[in-house]
Amino acid sequence: MITPHSWMTDALARWREDELARMETPPAEVLERAPTYADVQKWPTYFIVGPGREVAEKTDCGHGYHLTDSCPCCGADEEDD
Ligand SMILES: [Zn+2]
Repeated sequence: MITPHSWMTDALARWREDELARMETPPAEVLERAPTYADVQKWPTYFIVGPGREVAEKTDCGHGYHLTDSCPCCGADEEDD
């Protein structure tokens, strides 16, 4: 029997370990305030898979989405580059 779930979990666990090993931690002044969408873009590992996730997933980006969700309003700003 194929168990894609356990394969995924292993691969994800390895990826996460790798990412965490290379993770850049935001400066103290960023960690002291509520994170913003820009912070999550700048330090995605910290806020998406790292210790910042807990607060990021409870923080609203200002459009009714959590910072860990992809918000179409926040993302729209980035397209003009
Ligand atoms: Zn937004």
